Amino acid sequence: MWAHYSSSRAQLHLPKKFETPHLGCYSVIVTEAAAIEMMIEHLKGLFPKTCPNCQRVYATLREFYSDTTPVGNPISYDLEAGDTKPQQPRGAVAVSNCSCGTPMALRSDGMPLFRLWSLLLWAKTETKRRNVTETQLLADLRVKVRKKVVAETEPT
Ligand SMILES: [Zn+2]
Repeated sequence: MWAHYSSSRAQLHLPKKFETPHLGCYSVIVTEAAAIEMMIEHLKGLFPKTCPNCQRVYATLREFYSDTTPVGNPISYDLEAGDTKPQQPRGAVAVSNCSCGTPMALRSDGMPLFRLWSLLLWAKTETKRRNVTETQLLADLRVKVRKKVVAETEPT
């Protein structure tokens, strides 16, 4: 059964129907840095992305974060439901306004289940450890993710 879970990059873009891993097989994230890396890796896969209104194409996550404005707080519907191991994820979403003012959403859809589960479990554990709400934790994470991505050097 271990053969299913080799960590090849190709698996990151598999559709939702990824085979449910055996209970003992999914790795638990232990650091915030690892959680942030995992989120950034997923988010980068969502680009290029086009604004439905002005048709501006954001080529990279970095460009998107540089030129959009965060709106509200990110929401994890699974955390809200208290479910850290959803078989059918409700998903997570963060909305930012395009430079033209149109809201654009980045979603967790497409993230392999075992990755999503380990993120959810980490988040749940972390809210208790830090004594913060899920909303506060996600808002803090978003700031850190944005900061890290924007600070990355543009590939030449
Ligand atoms: Zn736009």
